[in-house]
Amino acid sequence: MKTSVIGYPRIGELRELKFATEKYFKGDITQKDLKNITCDLRKKHWKIQSNNKIDFIPSNDFSLYDNFLDTAVLLNVIPKVYKQLQLNPLDEYFAMARGYQGEKGDVKALAMKKWFNTNYHYIVPKIEDDTKISLVGTKPFDEYLEASNLGISTKPVIIGAFTFLKLSKFTGKKTAKDFISDIIKAYSDIIKKFNELGAKWIQFDEPALVLDLNKEDINMFNKIYEGILSNKNNIKVLLQTYFGDIRDCYAKTIELDFDGIGLDFIEGKKTLELIKTLGFPKDKVLFAGIINGKNIWKNNYNKTLSLIKELKKYCKEVVLSTSCSLLHVPYTLKNEEKLDEKYKKYFSFAEEKLRELYELKKILSSNNEKDISEFIKNKKIFEEPRDCSNYDVKFKIESLIEDDFNRYPNFNEREKIQKHEFKFPILPTTTIGSFPQTEEVKKNRSNYKKGNISLEKYKEFNKKQISECINLQEKIGIDVLVHGEFERNDMVEYFGENLEGFIITEKAWVQSYGTRCVKPPIIWGDVYRLRPITVDYSVYAQSLTKKYVKGMLTGPVTILNWSFPREDISLKESAFQIALAIREEVLDLESNGIKIIQIDEAALREKLPLRKKDWNSEYLDWAIPAFRLTHSGVKPTTQIHTHMCYSEFSDIIKYIDEMDADVITFEASRSDLTIIDTLKENGFKTEVGPGVYDIHSPRIPSASEIKEIILEILKKIPKEKLWINPDCGLKTREYKEVVPSLENLVSAVKEIRRSL
Ligand code: GLN
Ligand code: ZN
Repeated sequence: MKTSVIGYPRIGELRELKFATEKYFKGDITQKDLKNITCDLRKKHWKIQSNNKIDFIPSNDFSLYDNFLDTAVLLNVIPKVYKQLQLNPLDEYFAMARGYQGEKGDVKALAMKKWFNTNYHYIVPKIEDDTKISLVGTKPFDEYLEASNLGISTKPVIIGAFTFLKLSKFTGKKTAKDFISDIIKAYSDIIKKFNELGAKWIQFDEPALVLDLNKEDINMFNKIYEGILSNKNNIKVLLQTYFGDIRDCYAKTIELDFDGIGLDFIEGKKTLELIKTLGFPKDKVLFAGIINGKNIWKNNYNKTLSLIKELKKYCKEVVLSTSCSLLHVPYTLKNEEKLDEKYKKYFSFAEEKLRELYELKKILSSNNEKDISEFIKNKKIFEEPRDCSNYDVKFKIESLIEDDFNRYPNFNEREKIQKHEFKFPILPTTTIGSFPQTEEVKKNRSNYKKGNISLEKYKEFNKKQISECINLQEKIGIDVLVHGEFERNDMVEYFGENLEGFIITEKAWVQSYGTRCVKPPIIWGDVYRLRPITVDYSVYAQSLTKKYVKGMLTGPVTILNWSFPREDISLKESAFQIALAIREEVLDLESNGIKIIQIDEAALREKLPLRKKDWNSEYLDWAIPAFRLTHSGVKPTTQIHTHMCYSEFSDIIKYIDEMDADVITFEASRSDLTIIDTLKENGFKTEVGPGVYDIHSPRIPSASEIKEIILEILKKIPKEKLWINPDCGLKTREYKEVVPSLENLVSAVKEIRRSL
């Protein structure tokens, strides 16, 4: 029995890639330095896999920013505006990822979107009518050779042609269909080159196959692969899918000339059933995704073994695989020095997952598997009870009644009451919450964590930051202020640290986009709040100004979605537990004089089932109520804001309205404001602040540019409903970018106000 890994994380065990890339952006290191660092990282990652005897080790899973963008560059999908900058290839690549502002021009970054149901974000390529898709890059071949030179033979991994076309954006008249023959040629050339290099297998990642597919999609998939596979010669082609089952095209897939098919048995609820009912061809290898690539709990060997046995009845050859790339889990438990073994024994990060593959292979190749010590040890973990329940919490959840989810009076009445209460100017300006996390802000936190400074000193520093932040916002002329979130490392981790039931790790970073990583907390047990969390800083911030300062919380769905969830209770139950804790915090803020409270749901969409049919039954019917539960207890004069980002909202717009917040701010500028039309068409009731500039890029928008955008929005949204704000929190930016950007934002608004 063989083992396979779909992809390995690349940011580095201690985020080496992040730090190196950021140094390069600042001009502190050269391209050559960056190259050396990345070379070392790849080598290290291949070696770890090879030490664990992985049979199919991926190459080209590495990326300097994003794999999807790598594929675009490989295929010559580079929009003209970037070519015109005439930068060197590396800087052109980063210009697409992050935007460019310098002596050669001023161009925005490409759009960034959530990668399926993960917290990873990919760069969306733009295909123009005159784009000529063809193989022009060499990255996959270079990395394959790099591994070969180390004596490691790898399985090159590339985003498949179907997913590439499905997820790219077409800017002109042409659509995916018009590029099919070019893309077949390009992928055939890739195969040809790998044949020359002597690669045995190539993996095409086709996660788009787990989406809702119509006839046309399936025809396109079929056409593309009939074309590509007719040119495969000696190489074996693995069609790799993940994040769900491929029920819409399974029948077609098994007819095509693939040598291996990779299916997800973790999230693919129907995968086994498909194999049982439609069979699996004898001449193909099944790559069975049984090691969860998205969660950090240990694999239950006993269950996996029964599944593999079942599969062997239908499939001639089964390879043990991860369920998706390990990109979505942290590197290794080894660095968690503060975590007690009593917890650790339940977890498995990327490196430990390699070990699990190794052990499963060992167990499965013995005749008497149940006698193998690794099996016995694993079985014991799942048999012992885990100390993680709180009966009080369980009781509170069971006692919830319908009215706990409804806020009174209804939105329209509240809107009137609040207009009267707050008397904001037209187009009120605000920000999303965080201000730049400078070196000294981070240092203060780490000094406190290391015990170098006292709690008093730590808080004193934060309060000084808050006071400067309030002054700055007043000086710029923002209407509704924020305290700046200097005490927070991350919007989810912070609540994880302060609520019971969570485990916080030290080094368990996961890449979110480009150089940005997050450290998701682990939900270990039942969640509850022991004491107020944010009240002190919020009340302090409000005491410094006559303007309103927003209390700033993270919503239950986002806390859940950006944590590693439990596997022993339902997501719904965890969400309600967190919602009750946040509700207590909301009510405490209110009773301490905070009049506006923002409850961020940045990740509301993240666990939305990828297939529309499953939305209500599996997700929205508890996610939206969980949010409503947090704020249904406040007075009509308390204004509830929420914020969302990074994703498509159009198709869930009516559910967003049902969250029943008073104001919602969201990311819009990087997705070309298409959302505005949807709001109009759906008669969206909640007041809205579509982000008027992109904070994920260092670029500073001019006042006239912002003014244009606002005027554009005003054509579709009544001025009484519109708020003006950036896309998202400002924590990743520097003051030298933030101050002029906000000044430009305020002056654009002032100009418009004069003309209204
Ligand atoms: N309030 C948070 C911040 O400003 C929201 C961040 C987010 O949406 N990702 O940082
Ligand atoms: Zn955001």
